[in-house]
Amino acid sequence: MYEALINSIRSVQNFPDGPIPLHAPVFAGNEKKYVLDTIESTFVSSVGEYVTRFENLLAEYCGSKRAVACCNGTSALEIALRLAGVRNEDLVLTQALTFVATANAIVHAGAEPVFLDVDRDTLGLSPKAVANFLNKHCRLEGKQCRHTQSGRRVAVCVPMHTFGHPAHMDELLAVCQEWNIPIVEDAAEALGSTYKGQHCGTMGQVGILSFNGNKTVTTGGGGAVLTNDQALGTLAKHLTTTAKLPHRWEFRHDAVAWNFRLPNLNAALGCAQMEQLDHFLSIKRARAKAYEKLFRNSEWQFVAEPQGCRSNYWLCAVLTNSRSERDTFLAEANDAGLGTRPVWKPLHTLPMFKDCQCDELQVTMDITARLVNLPSGVVDGKI
Ligand SMILES: *Cc1c(COP(=O)(O)O)cnc(C)c1O
Repeated sequence: MYEALINSIRSVQNFPDGPIPLHAPVFAGNEKKYVLDTIESTFVSSVGEYVTRFENLLAEYCGSKRAVACCNGTSALEIALRLAGVRNEDLVLTQALTFVATANAIVHAGAEPVFLDVDRDTLGLSPKAVANFLNKHCRLEGKQCRHTQSGRRVAVCVPMHTFGHPAHMDELLAVCQEWNIPIVEDAAEALGSTYKGQHCGTMGQVGILSFNGNKTVTTGGGGAVLTNDQALGTLAKHLTTTAKLPHRWEFRHDAVAWNFRLPNLNAALGCAQMEQLDHFLSIKRARAKAYEKLFRNSEWQFVAEPQGCRSNYWLCAVLTNSRSERDTFLAEANDAGLGTRPVWKPLHTLPMFKDCQCDELQVTMDITARLVNLPSGVVDGKI
């Protein structure tokens, strides 16, 4: 039924035969050289020059004062939430339409997620949904936002830039400022995405990136905390590296902390990947534009970057007309070797989050039923 469409998707990806993964990494630069370098130097672990180099490359690329490398995006988010003031028993506002790691990090930081709806144009947290929840269920007690019924603090708000499309940050920042709630951006999917010229992850108090194997650039596993607050950056480094006080030989630590360091081995891979980021982005963008054109005269709607934004098009997405259409297409496309996927199950439907608060989630449920992610990797490295 979808044979012609499947062939068109193959031609957008410049891949006539064989399986096309949803998003596979490409190592076409200095990866081997840099990784070998760490082995030859013996500095493969938590100390080494590639970690600092990778952090500097990230900070410069994103226009952030500090970037602190971590062992993965989930741990970076846990630390980011702590830095923004999350304490045990707090509530944290986020979207139901996100990867499970967002809510896992909130729980690991001691808090409970509240799942709110997303906007249709960005697929990111809806400022209206945030304002509605706060107006309906919360009050300001001095400078502190509290959930009226439970008395719990609403500590932080976590928008996620879905598939690399920036959320409505100005509006989110305005609502959250009114309620005195800091924003932590889950920009795990958004390396290379900008909102009105500002890099995702640098507009809230703290932001995070992920370098998992399926992200735009990879360190094998890895993540980073971004912040423009030098003191928070220093604290992020301290808390992710066992809170050790500098000394030539003594082991002195001044906090219960984490070992969330990114090994030098992984940072070496990251440095090589960062050298190719602009190239990756231009290939991904050209293919996203080709998908957009492909669906222009069809009944299905390609998810294009929101106005005023530049998306990294981490994962391209199209909205089918119904759940059954989506499922038929997914079955045919996967049979034909195309790495196509539905979006994540909304988090409020997962067993461990079923008792968390949420709003009506109308857009979330509609998008969830109809969305398909298309092959979006760089594959052969050619446009
Ligand atoms: C990838 C991802 C993360 C972090 O994932 P790690 O695998 O821990 O690096 C967090 N949030 C979202 C939305 C993600 O897509």
